[in-house]
Amino acid sequence: MKSQSEIIKELKNLLPAKRFRHSIGVMETAEKLAKIYKADKERACLAGLLHDCSKYMTGNEMICFLKDRGIDSDADSIASGSGLLHAEVSMFLASENYGVNDPEILSAILCHTLGKEDMSLIDKIIFISDYIEPERDFGSVDKLRKSARKNLDRAIIEAINSTLIHLTKENKIIHPKLLVTRNAILRNVGL
Ligand code: FE
Ligand code: FE
Repeated sequence: MKSQSEIIKELKNLLPAKRFRHSIGVMETAEKLAKIYKADKERACLAGLLHDCSKYMTGNEMICFLKDRGIDSDADSIASGSGLLHAEVSMFLASENYGVNDPEILSAILCHTLGKEDMSLIDKIIFISDYIEPERDFGSVDKLRKSARKNLDRAIIEAINSTLIHLTKENKIIHPKLLVTRNAILRNVGL
């Protein structure tokens, strides 16, 4: 596996500047949350750093990339362009280009945009860090930052709710996996 500093150097060259800063922000936020929730800090940092590592590719490149690995993307992901496809592509790149083979890190990268049933602590930390890292500035972000420090599950529900409201207002496709994630948390944790 490449060292953290090597990965940072490569990402700085590959990613657009804003995306690179976002990746560092997610890494640092994930580290803070890992401390609060007593999760593995190293895993959280690495997953945060690499979660968007494919975000220099176009949607079409991602479809081909996944096809080369035997994966047919679902229609709702394809419709999103790189917006949803990048999570799976980033997972493959983390493994193939950066030598990450820890299944917990790869899982957190894979499910950082849509979540999944039975998310692990690291999965949840990366999912919410992606919303609240310092560069984010949507209306309810400060409220979400506070929630994330108090109750990860509640924060994820709030984050998904705000995404659903946004997608609905804009008449955009809602990927069913996002609803699966939301339902699973509501069932398991019962907020
Ligand atoms: Fe992402
Ligand atoms: Fe991201």
